[in-house]
Amino acid sequence: MVIPLNGKKIAYFSMEIGVRNDIHTYSGGLGVLAGDTIRSSADLSVPMIAVTLVSRKGYLKQKLNHNGEQKEMPDEWNPSNIMNLAPKTVEVIIEKRKVKIQAWVYEHKSTIGGTVPIFFLDTDVEGNAPEDRRITDSLYGGDEQNRLKQELVLGIGGARMLDGLGYRISKYHMNEGHSALLTLELLQKFDMDIDRVREHCIFTTHTPVEAAFDKFPYDIVEDVVGKEFPVAIIKELGGDDFLNMTRLALNLSGFQNGVTKEHAKLSLKIFPHYAIHAITNGVHSQTWTSPSFHRLFDKYVPGWASDPEMLVRIERAPVCEVWDAHAENKKALMAFIEQRTGEKLDEDVLTLGFARRATGYKRAKLIFSDLRRLREVNKRRPIQLVFAGKAHLRDINGKNLIKEIFWYKQELKDELKVVYLENYDMDIAAKLTAGVDVWLNTPLPPMEASGTSGMKAAHNGVMNFSVLDGWWIEGCIEGVTGWAIGPSPEAAVTEDERRHQELDDLFNKLKYLIAPKYYDERDTWANMMKNSVGKVAYYFNTDRMMRRYITSAYLG
Ligand SMILES: *Cc1c(COP(=O)(O)O)cnc(C)c1O
Repeated sequence: MVIPLNGKKIAYFSMEIGVRNDIHTYSGGLGVLAGDTIRSSADLSVPMIAVTLVSRKGYLKQKLNHNGEQKEMPDEWNPSNIMNLAPKTVEVIIEKRKVKIQAWVYEHKSTIGGTVPIFFLDTDVEGNAPEDRRITDSLYGGDEQNRLKQELVLGIGGARMLDGLGYRISKYHMNEGHSALLTLELLQKFDMDIDRVREHCIFTTHTPVEAAFDKFPYDIVEDVVGKEFPVAIIKELGGDDFLNMTRLALNLSGFQNGVTKEHAKLSLKIFPHYAIHAITNGVHSQTWTSPSFHRLFDKYVPGWASDPEMLVRIERAPVCEVWDAHAENKKALMAFIEQRTGEKLDEDVLTLGFARRATGYKRAKLIFSDLRRLREVNKRRPIQLVFAGKAHLRDINGKNLIKEIFWYKQELKDELKVVYLENYDMDIAAKLTAGVDVWLNTPLPPMEASGTSGMKAAHNGVMNFSVLDGWWIEGCIEGVTGWAIGPSPEAAVTEDERRHQELDDLFNKLKYLIAPKYYDERDTWANMMKNSVGKVAYYFNTDRMMRRYITSAYLG
């Protein structure tokens, strides 16, 4: 696909980008999505450049002791081992001090398309005050003040860097509100012409509820940004009481979207005066398809990697080959788990996986909330559970969740195997989403704006068993592509009834539908695995997603 932008570029801004596992400047789904966006843009030869922070100490390295207590360490990487410096530095003013910013350039090359350069902004520059050299150390690190400094470096510094390097930009695409200060830089550049700024800006929101928006009190804004831009004008654009980055980005973007249909609907409720579109997320098919499924797809769906829509044709693959491809992944996962934890899981036992950031709304321990029913499920047909996930260092509740799962693991140790893998990252995500039989997701609706790990599972014929929230509202065909936990968002039920029905579905479906199918109806199961590929993965990928961004937003 060639995009006629007259040599102008799409600039993609994201606080986190998961481009490679050894560049750990991501914390979870937002960063992995940014990586997949870049991978598919390169495949499609979109003239894109990406901007992020260098986060030299990464997000965090997780250590868990035998009680599941998390200790976090810096997860350092050295950009100079992997990439070169851009031939330009730029300056911003932070708290009245001049701060120099340099940029490391990484080129992501597609095997089938073009290249997307990624600029990793870095304030660790000679001449900067010692405290300023640490601004870009840790992803989401430090206090609120430091967080705003990081956002200033990303938004204002990033826009200046692209200008300084001579790029002509047709659209600035903000992946979440963290980079929204770039709109102020553009306002200045375009002589305060708001319409011109809007023509240049696209905003993708990822947050479904008001409480979770990125917000800053104005005394901090005055302190950090005051010398760059008049705070009185920021207040008009970003909210009276707080600087709300979502509001700022919405006000100055000509195109805005949520990351699933349901999320766009919810966002419209919060911001009724904006035209918020829906572009449902995806994952990069080639990246998240395991080697065994690669071979299977190559054999029965040639051309799938550059055109994942073709995966509808997986129907042609014989069920035994689908089953064998999965068995290979399951065996590899069990070997990996044994090597990491010393624990031996059984290849013949129905295995459920749950891995994502350890934070309250994801409800990792929901499956343990009725041990009597869980034990009954397991007595009838055995199951085993694999968990992984890091908690943010200040998320006490998230850390407690991990400890509780370790407690349940101990409590159930003579009946049902539970393992928790340390230091969840993209490599582990790939192994888990390919190697378990069922991918479990139990968020508290409507908190999961999208979710993407279930799409990775679908690319490997793994069945989704999930609460009807985020992408699964669009992906679930009950009993065909997987199973739903709890009622649909439209159902006229109270919150209490909803909680009740979630637990009923979780245990009853596991006991009476999922386990019997897995153990006794292999062919039906393998046909459902094909549905997971042909009716889910064919659509929930970033190839389709980027084509939508191109036609709806980039060419707009
Ligand atoms: C895909 C991925 C996520 C996103 O998972 P969700 O289930 O969508 O929250 C988070 N972390 C890593 C490392 C991933 O690869």
